[in-house]
Amino acid sequence: MKTAGLIGGMSWESTALYYKLLNQQVRERLGGLHSAKIIMESVDFHEIEVLQRENQWQEAGRLLADIALRLERGGADFVLLCTNTMHKVAPMIEDAITVPFLHLADATAEKVLARGEKKVGLLGTSFTMEEDFYRERLLRRGIEVITPDAARRGEINRIIFDELCCGEVHERSKQIYLQAIDTFAVQGAQSVIFGCTEIGLLVPVEQSSLPVIDTTRVHVDAALEYMLA
Ligand code: GLU
Repeated sequence: MKTAGLIGGMSWESTALYYKLLNQQVRERLGGLHSAKIIMESVDFHEIEVLQRENQWQEAGRLLADIALRLERGGADFVLLCTNTMHKVAPMIEDAITVPFLHLADATAEKVLARGEKKVGLLGTSFTMEEDFYRERLLRRGIEVITPDAARRGEINRIIFDELCCGEVHERSKQIYLQAIDTFAVQGAQSVIFGCTEIGLLVPVEQSSLPVIDTTRVHVDAALEYMLA
């Protein structure tokens, strides 16, 4: 089994889920007392969020690239960045290490294509929904990506930072997400991407009017394929 290097803490609420899912699925596949080989470095998310808000992406990228290098030096065979948003600085991380970096948007695009879908709705932070670094990797593979209108994007972003990353789950917020998914369905999306690693903590997939592609689970699946290959 290969050793996964996790850059975590963005937020720890979802990194805890990565840790749990990786271990659960290694046990499911290998049985007995098997568990996942993991090295993790978890950041203080407050520091990262300040850098995001102040548009200091170079500094954030340097910080995460240093972590990735420490993971590699510590024995990680590959690196996972456990957040969609910070993939904005993925090139800096990739440049810093020699082991593979499993890009979350690529794993997600492969999942969409494997399902034979061409048009998807994307929910995530404003960075992820509005900028190119994430959507572009889907578009490049011929996948049409739609996002909610500006007012709803603002609400969805606010809920991620003010509630989900603080461990808060509110019914009213869940309804806002479910309504956004209903709108995607009307607009012809074939599935919805939970493009933020905390959304699965708020919205149960069975309540979604569209099939869900949850990036946390997609990333964990991609990691498992690589770890156990
Ligand atoms: N975990 C979130 C994501 O997947 C948001 C937190 C962050 O800004 O990194 O995008």
